[in-house]
Amino acid sequence: MLAVQLTAWGQPPQVREIPVPEPAEGQLLIKVGAAGLCRSDLHVMDSPAGRFDYPLPLTLGHEVAGTVVGAGPLADHAWIGENVVIHGVWPCGRCRNCRRERENYCLEKVPRGDGRLSPIGNGLGHPGGLAEYLLVPSEAVLVRVGSLSPEQAAPLADAGLTAYHAIRTNSDLIDSDTVALVIGIGGLGHLAVQILRSFGVTDIIAVETRTQTHALALESGALACFATLAEAAEAVASLGGADVVFDFVGAQATVEPAPALLAPGGRVVVVGSAGGQLTVGKSLGLVNGWQVRAPFWGTIEDLRQVVALAGAGKLHAEVTAFPFDSALKAYDRLRSGDLSGRAVLVPTAPSSL
Ligand SMILES: [Zn+2]
Ligand SMILES: [Zn+2]
Repeated sequence: MLAVQLTAWGQPPQVREIPVPEPAEGQLLIKVGAAGLCRSDLHVMDSPAGRFDYPLPLTLGHEVAGTVVGAGPLADHAWIGENVVIHGVWPCGRCRNCRRERENYCLEKVPRGDGRLSPIGNGLGHPGGLAEYLLVPSEAVLVRVGSLSPEQAAPLADAGLTAYHAIRTNSDLIDSDTVALVIGIGGLGHLAVQILRSFGVTDIIAVETRTQTHALALESGALACFATLAEAAEAVASLGGADVVFDFVGAQATVEPAPALLAPGGRVVVVGSAGGQLTVGKSLGLVNGWQVRAPFWGTIEDLRQVVALAGAGKLHAEVTAFPFDSALKAYDRLRSGDLSGRAVLVPTAPSSL
């Protein structure tokens, strides 16, 4: 089968022919219908040797939807034939965070003392879904998607899930009176705006430097979209300040000024990983009770909720689909910012099963 594999750190991935994996024990085999491309993939492939302890070659792809077509002898064979999306966090299931249903913060997966990350799931340490077939460890990481198309379901696994988790875990500040600022209307941001709407939020101000994407922000349900944070700050101030700033960029230019836009008791939620740093302290001249959070991905229950929203027609991913042989071109377009919404790779080669 074809797979998009990282074969050397700091190098672009390659489309390679590899064997179709066989499910053993409790594993299930997924025929991939679509797999999303993520900025985290660029971060992984650009990294020098030693930053991640993932074994190479590594098949990329942590945002995957498809159909269960095989099962190991210990797996639940009732899943065969089901259309699913895969939860990309493969947790230990035993640690105290897993027992709290906070498995995206599994203690087995936290950065080790040397700063490197342990393997966490498909495409991140384990073979991913930018391939025709994917093995998952058990049905515990699967969510049924019913009749949702693979192209719609795949982005839910990360773009939708990460946005949902960031919003759901701040639900104490989310209601019909909320003033929300969403920075970055890319794969995650355009879904975040829709999810906020589903939570009853209407005062949503968006910021996106790419003005050609402003229409997507408005279609997704934003009240207004501005090209700069300075312009958005005026609109936010006229609404009394932001209860929550969701920063899907996370660059210095977004993280640093964001706390000044908060209403008292407001919160900056940094989701994007563009390297921005924020000074935290109590004597910075900021509003009383300001807070900052840095959520990571989401739980399988969050994923079920995201799938339910999409199934109910309340969440629609803007998707550009690419065939397998265009994988590198698609990554280039992601890198250059020349994509609206999410890019997904769709396997085109015929099934060998
Ligand atoms: Zn991702
Ligand atoms: Zn755990």
